[in-house]
Amino acid sequence: MGKHAAIAIAWIAGLTTIVVPILVAIYLASSQSLDAEKSRAGTLAAEVLRRSDLTSEQIYAAFEKLEGEHADDPCSWSNIARMREIDLGSTQLQAVGYIADNRLMCSSLGIHGAGIPLGPPDYVNAAGTSIRAGVELPFVPAMRFTISTREKSGYAAIVHRVLPLDVATYRPDISLGLVGKDNHELILSRGPFSPEWLEGFGQAGGVRLFDGEYVIAIEPSREYGYTAYAAVPATYLDAGTRRAALILVPVGLAAGILLALVVFYLTRRQLSLPALLRNALRADEFFLLYQPLIDLQSGKWHGAEALLRWQRPDGELIRPDLFIPAAEESGLIRQVTQKVMALLVRDAAALLQLYPDFHIGINLSAADLENPGIIDELRTILQNAGVGPGNIMVEATERGFLKTEHAAQIIRDIRQMGICVAIDDFGTGYSSLSYLTTFELDYLKIDKSFVDTIGIEAATSQVIPHIIEMAKSLKLKIIAEGVETEEQAQYLRERGVHYGQGWLFGKPMPIGELTIQLEKEKKSPES
Ligand code: C2E
Ligand code: CA
Ligand code: CA
Repeated sequence: MGKHAAIAIAWIAGLTTIVVPILVAIYLASSQSLDAEKSRAGTLAAEVLRRSDLTSEQIYAAFEKLEGEHADDPCSWSNIARMREIDLGSTQLQAVGYIADNRLMCSSLGIHGAGIPLGPPDYVNAAGTSIRAGVELPFVPAMRFTISTREKSGYAAIVHRVLPLDVATYRPDISLGLVGKDNHELILSRGPFSPEWLEGFGQAGGVRLFDGEYVIAIEPSREYGYTAYAAVPATYLDAGTRRAALILVPVGLAAGILLALVVFYLTRRQLSLPALLRNALRADEFFLLYQPLIDLQSGKWHGAEALLRWQRPDGELIRPDLFIPAAEESGLIRQVTQKVMALLVRDAAALLQLYPDFHIGINLSAADLENPGIIDELRTILQNAGVGPGNIMVEATERGFLKTEHAAQIIRDIRQMGICVAIDDFGTGYSSLSYLTTFELDYLKIDKSFVDTIGIEAATSQVIPHIIEMAKSLKLKIIAEGVETEEQAQYLRERGVHYGQGWLFGKPMPIGELTIQLEKEKKSPES
């Protein structure tokens, strides 16, 4: 997986961790709100049913009582007195009366002359009770009543149309009502009503969401021929969702951001160079290439420099300019150097045993030169490879010499073992030249940036003769780095520079190629 793909995945993961909790929060909010409205609708329908059943109980009790008297004249004063008694004794009935020929002839209120015309009933239910819904009576204008009449006796119960619906609703536009069980005719209602609400309900009743417009609950009566309903407009659902979302979304957002931060932190840590390096060390993603050092006078291969390469599992090569500084900063450079040493022993032991005068240089960092353990590590290389100290060289940059106290002693010890030490990238550092006299060294490597100026009329081109003279006076052997042209080689040769390294002579190459070249040279020593 490439780094970009990994970063893209980290982004996707990060965004997902923000978006998903919010979506979950909204989903929870809406389902929470739906649940709340469902249970409210259910409670309201049950309450309407309870009150209606109570009313029905009282209506039928009144019928039984009046019919039980077998009055010859239902509108006799004694019968009216009985009606009043029943009326006052019931909590739900406004009046009881007697109907003949669609007229209310008398009631607990008295005798109504020739009778109040009521018109035909809306319907007759299975129990033989006719229902007139929404009747207006002249003595209480603007009020509407439901009149239930026992067909066989003519006795009637008058109930305030909304009384059983006088349920405390938490909002005004919630519809409540009572419909005939089989015909779905409205008996009582409050608010808008649609017959479709009742469709699809079984006899058991329950709650369902209809059309996305209303949350509807119905409760069929077990005793009587009607069904109570409650319908909550979906706008309350949305409002409920919004209210719940107002609490849940910020919580989701906070959780999301927190999660995203964790994801970013973890992926960044995972993607960071030190983390990748640590894995690479474990997974053996490193190998060495060897670049020859040429004797500028004879043209013979004098030695080579081991240069580390890091190849990611996807094939990507990471430049040492990038990962060496990262290893130095993250304290991993010691492990990197140890890896180089192990690779060197594995690659080059056989070759070096064949060529006792040929040396391979390894690059050491400042941290290596502060750690006395490096001496043992170098000694171990010689032992494990079965080679002499002349087969190994150490290259250290000016930066490596900065911590002079320790480095001076360690370099002395390295040289004591017979291993040569070169100062690398000479001329690019910012430290004073005094360490050149403090340290005893063997080689000086002129940095490529100076070699580049050869043949160009640049001010810095004046520097190179001075470096050469200084090295000579300090009795250091000189290696010119980054020699790319014959002109540069010629210039260096003329000024007595001993060795050259660069693409003109050979690019960094695998150990196999180096071996072949050395064999060729051995067979034809004059070339
Ligand atoms: P360096 O020690 O100065 O190594 C020489 C660099 O110059 C190498 O780059 C080499 O490939 C490149 N080079 C050689 N000849 C030419 C040439 O003619 N033209 C051009 N343009 N370049 C040339 P490389 O291998 O990329 O290494 C870069 C730096 O990384 C090295 O500079 C060294 O400081 C560091 N490095 C490489 N391997 C190791 C290692 O094993 N340990 C440590 N501590 N540092 C290493
Ligand atoms: Ca070097
Ligand atoms: Ca160098």
